[in-house]
Amino acid sequence: MNTNSVKAITAMCIGSLIMPCYITAATIEREAQYASWPTYSGTDLELDANDHRANFRLWSPEAESVRLMIYPTDRNSSASETIEMQQSTDGTWTVSLRGNYFGKFYTFSVKHNGKWLDETPGVWAKAVGTNGHRAAIIDLQSTNPEGWNNDRGPEVENITDVILYEMHHRDMSVDPSSGIVNKGKFLALTESGTHNPTGESTGIDHLKELGITHVHILPSYDYNSVDEANLPSNQYNWGYDPYNYNVPEGSYSTNPADPTARIREMKEMVKALHDAGIGVVMDVVYNHTADNDGSNFSLTAPGYYYRHRPDGSYSDASGCGNETASERRQMSDFIVNSVKYWADEYHIDGFRFDLMAIHDIETMNRVASELKKINPSIFVYGEGWTAGDSPLPADRRALKENVAKMDGIAVFSDDLRDAVKGHYSNAIDRGFATGKPGNEETVKIGIVASTAHPQVDYSKGNNSKFAYASAPTQIINYVSCHDDLTLTDKLAKSMPEASEAERQRAARLAQTIVFTSQGTPFMFAGEEVFRDKKGVHNSYNSPDSINAIDWSLKHSNAEQFNYYKELIKLRKEHPAFRMTTAEQIAKHLVFDKNTDENVIAYTLRDNANGDTWKEIKVIFNGNPKAMEVNVAKGNWTVIADDGQIKADGLRSAKGGKMTVAPTSALILAR
Ligand code: CA
Repeated sequence: MNTNSVKAITAMCIGSLIMPCYITAATIEREAQYASWPTYSGTDLELDANDHRANFRLWSPEAESVRLMIYPTDRNSSASETIEMQQSTDGTWTVSLRGNYFGKFYTFSVKHNGKWLDETPGVWAKAVGTNGHRAAIIDLQSTNPEGWNNDRGPEVENITDVILYEMHHRDMSVDPSSGIVNKGKFLALTESGTHNPTGESTGIDHLKELGITHVHILPSYDYNSVDEANLPSNQYNWGYDPYNYNVPEGSYSTNPADPTARIREMKEMVKALHDAGIGVVMDVVYNHTADNDGSNFSLTAPGYYYRHRPDGSYSDASGCGNETASERRQMSDFIVNSVKYWADEYHIDGFRFDLMAIHDIETMNRVASELKKINPSIFVYGEGWTAGDSPLPADRRALKENVAKMDGIAVFSDDLRDAVKGHYSNAIDRGFATGKPGNEETVKIGIVASTAHPQVDYSKGNNSKFAYASAPTQIINYVSCHDDLTLTDKLAKSMPEASEAERQRAARLAQTIVFTSQGTPFMFAGEEVFRDKKGVHNSYNSPDSINAIDWSLKHSNAEQFNYYKELIKLRKEHPAFRMTTAEQIAKHLVFDKNTDENVIAYTLRDNANGDTWKEIKVIFNGNPKAMEVNVAKGNWTVIADDGQIKADGLRSAKGGKMTVAPTSALILAR
């Protein structure tokens, strides 16, 4: 989700805790009414079928009548049966059908205020046909790939050990240079042995070679915008327009009309990644839906699932036309049960919450604790902001400033992001890595993962003014993602006078700061080969010509790739970069005093976090000229210097007065 205009609004609401936005008598009355609705959160909601019966249960407390329609096909057919459902307990409507209904499709229709609403597959469809308009009755067991019962993702003790790689299925494989057969599909990442025209690995082999621990896949639930009946038209979308939350997106399957294909193929992708030791994080967007009155939420329980303004219109903290109401029990349970379902059925290893601050803190805490019960390795992080004002009071929002109240949840650090490369929404603005002074203290906030540190003055922070994280496990560090300009494009716009080689140096410095900082590093797919998006900052529906990664870059930018690979290796081999508590950081990470402008230097001392190295010296020079620094005398191994890096060491050095090359990191260890 785009974060434009978010911070100002967030700041305004934080400052007005006593008088939260939009609270009026009408709002209070509406909330009281919704709170009185009965709720039902059994896992048998909507469909529970085997080969001799199919039981249906729709939650719709205010419905006057509810109908179930059975269809022989996913579209272009009339209902073979239309059945009146019976009012049951806890706001639900039920019907039980005898016989084997596998292979059939169904929809519900709800009568509300005397009017039959449009048919809907419901909110709990677990299988659908083309474009998701009809839910499918299938045997989920039949979608499991071979060996699925023994499939496990990587064990994660601390999220700080994770290296996140954010990717879109089409970006990753659709370009001919990928050498992948199943272009733009889930199956792309099941293909091994793929390579670009010059023989460098692509796809899953590339991920293994790079060394990341988890892929973070952009929305992969069934979304609205790409017409699954017209795949040859090669439409592109990021997928932040949710339609069916509990089904994979059809356009990423080889056959959207076959309800089992998308499910089986997504599981095959997960299994292939797990077999390669790589975990799968899913981007989830429960904060809004693609449609308002026509969404599956509105067609099953009109009004309930959304927040409204005092005049009854949809409030819009998502910037997409509506926002959901996680503080209401049935919606909160929906989110919790939905992520549990993805973890159970698809073996998903982590969840990234889009515009997480639209959700309430209590729901997010339930999400984190319920997932840990399924698998202690699962982790949760999100965008700790909204994209507009919300009726939910700021003190209840899952904002980054409230993350200390959310144990087991991490937030993206926009502090480090903007300070290192320049402001996200001002293309020409520069940051620390591109030579703009005045960002040093905010970069330090990022280095200590927004935890309290005796040498960091939060009053000088550009974005946040206090140490909001209680531990480094609550911070995701990054300098670019699918939103806004890619790092390559940002550098092109903000340093137009620089050569390509100089921009690549700046990218290396920026990512070296990310990957050596405390917290969890996150990178955007293709940055390791210096991919761009031709200067398009909001490419959510841009064609493949903008979004696809050209894998021939892995050859032409081989040095860049090797740098990223070694940087990742360094982080993985050295726990000093992956401390788990604020106290450890305060004790073991010591900044140099009186450093020059646009220079940051610190020491990780006393075998930090059990590191084999007693001392690690990290120096960043954001200036376009060489700078001199004083390093303690002794026998050092040079790990990074002058745009080069080698986790096992480039050479040795004696300390004393040392030169840090322009726009680069000097890392020493002993
Ligand atoms: Ca779809």
